[in-house]
Amino acid sequence: MFLLCGCGTGSQPTRLRSQDNNGGGGAAAFTFLWGRPRWNRPDMRLTYAVSPLATADHLPRDAVREAFRSALARWAEVTPLRFAEAARYEEADIRVGFYLHTADGKCDACGCVCKGGGEEALAHAHPPQDGRIHLHAARKWAVTNVAGAGGDAPPLAVDLESVAVHEIGHALGLGHSSSESSMMYRHYRGKVSLTDDDVKGVQELYGAKPPRVDLTADSKPKRVETIREIEQHIQQKKETAKKKPFFWRLVRLPLYPPCLACAVNS
Ligand SMILES: [Zn+2]
Ligand SMILES: [Zn+2]
Repeated sequence: MFLLCGCGTGSQPTRLRSQDNNGGGGAAAFTFLWGRPRWNRPDMRLTYAVSPLATADHLPRDAVREAFRSALARWAEVTPLRFAEAARYEEADIRVGFYLHTADGKCDACGCVCKGGGEEALAHAHPPQDGRIHLHAARKWAVTNVAGAGGDAPPLAVDLESVAVHEIGHALGLGHSSSESSMMYRHYRGKVSLTDDDVKGVQELYGAKPPRVDLTADSKPKRVETIREIEQHIQQKKETAKKKPFFWRLVRLPLYPPCLACAVNS
């Protein structure tokens, strides 16, 4: 079974929530990384980037970017966090790259060792304020969720986006969950989605997503409608004016003030 690791997390995960969940609905399974690290950004904005150099040979870099964009969006849907791709890889908060691992699971890039050895390791991530995510370059990755890329995934290929969601969870400060259905469970089980346990865990760190201000009913669409109405009004006035005899238009012109709405004489 493949392992999904959080570097520096495996030996000392902090179980800060083990009491009843939501007033007795069952024990919370999620954990936080050691010391409960989190990104402390007042604007809740984080940047990410995929390394232009540390790539996997069989994966187009754009497909990797799309997989991570989609994976980040899942966390953004349930928190106030917002993610934007950085222009420069070195300046990004969350930096993604593919690296080889030794037989005992040691990452070539950072030296992190995944328990279970290199035969089982898929990826690992570093906690907040570091944010690196390292994927095992020797694995066969699939990007089946990305249109036009990896549509014919080999049977044993690993779904990149699912692993990305898990590792991003670590990069945001979550540890492993004991809930086997959760995204933060330590073993890869194919495609899964965020569960209530994942959501409650990340919301303990960053809060819930604030309610969206609906502009569709008031200001913005109303303003567009108003402009459209004025344009239609002007057009109607022009068409009406064309139908009137020229003499009548000359007589009416000075007698009536222009329409206040469109400044076209009626
Ligand atoms: Zn993990
Ligand atoms: Zn590493």
